[in-house]
Amino acid sequence: MQNLLNTYSRFDVKFVKGKNAVLTDENGDEYIDFTSGIGVVSVGHGNERLANAICDQAKNIIHISNLYRIPPQEKIAEILVREYGKGGVFFCNSGAEANETALKIARKYGEVDGKPKRYKVITLENSFHGRTISTLKATGQSKFHQYFGPFPDGFEYAKDINDIYNKIDDKTVAVMIELIQGEGGVNPFDKEKIQKLSNELKKRDVLLIVDEVQTGIYRTGEFYASNLYEITPDIITLAKGLGGGVPIGAVVTRLTDVLKPGDHGSTFGGNYLSTRAGIEVCEILKEEKISGRLDERIKYFEDRLLEIAKEFPNLFDTVSGYGLMKALKTHKSETRDEIVKKAFEEKLLVLKAGSNSVRFLPPLTITKEETDEGFDRLKTALMKVNE
Ligand SMILES: *Cc1c(COP(=O)(O)O)cnc(C)c1O
Repeated sequence: MQNLLNTYSRFDVKFVKGKNAVLTDENGDEYIDFTSGIGVVSVGHGNERLANAICDQAKNIIHISNLYRIPPQEKIAEILVREYGKGGVFFCNSGAEANETALKIARKYGEVDGKPKRYKVITLENSFHGRTISTLKATGQSKFHQYFGPFPDGFEYAKDINDIYNKIDDKTVAVMIELIQGEGGVNPFDKEKIQKLSNELKKRDVLLIVDEVQTGIYRTGEFYASNLYEITPDIITLAKGLGGGVPIGAVVTRLTDVLKPGDHGSTFGGNYLSTRAGIEVCEILKEEKISGRLDERIKYFEDRLLEIAKEFPNLFDTVSGYGLMKALKTHKSETRDEIVKKAFEEKLLVLKAGSNSVRFLPPLTITKEETDEGFDRLKTALMKVNE
């Protein structure tokens, strides 16, 4: 690792093989993956259908640039818009880049000839929107802001959903939120509050940007978390689960006339390879959803989590989250760190989030056997934490 920048504190393990929710290291030891690469490998490791689609595409055209029409890009846009309502899509390569795009759309939307420009974007405390300079500024966690200023102007933080109303003024053009704060600890917002917010913002002509980089593409059980909350945001941003591991970001919006040629772009965005992967992921998951298998898995995983929470009341407060985006909240932050470490020793991969959440983002294709094996290991780990 001596040639890598020291930006991650990594576990010392090298995986050489993956099959759905099972990863095998170089010694042949098998791990259960309850992280799916932080919500990315939505159809599991080594998914044959996805691999065939990618291979097929790679043997033909991988990339041609956005100077020419790209059929798979048009096809996946149709899928994303169908689940949204009416609008259009811009493709990029990551969550941060999708959010940057959303911010640019909002900033241009606020640019009205003859009137003072509206540019302010309100985000929430404890949010996470990315690592670029402006998405970092949009991220309402001061620990991320320590070294990298000065930041772009025009961001303001609201304490919670109710506080958003206090922060809106005549310079406000948009509100950007997650519906379930992921990195912040897997904290879903109240559905009625979100629906009210959506209605209020419409009345005030303030855009609602929903960052679905983590929640999008069936992670919560629905195509968009916005479907679950029964709202239609002005802009939805996507990335993590969309390509099943192939980097892709997307912005879905009803505002199809704001950006004009030259206003925005991305060299790699929406190329043949990533959009072909995205189509396959959406098709696989749609079948899982329609057949009822996805909902069954969600229910099974949730039951196992509730069981664990009940079995270890000394360690856990509650279970939070929707679909296969879940967390066990520990009483103490140190316990949480200890659990993640002990789980790893039992060859189970789980994630941290917020200050006291053990986060679970398994592949959406996880089998009952993999779930059972993972929870057996979790239980063994928790008994060691107890000691
Ligand atoms: C992961 C994440 C991002 C950042 O995505 P990158 O692809 O790492 O840039 C932004 N918003 C949310 C909600 C995320 O979970």
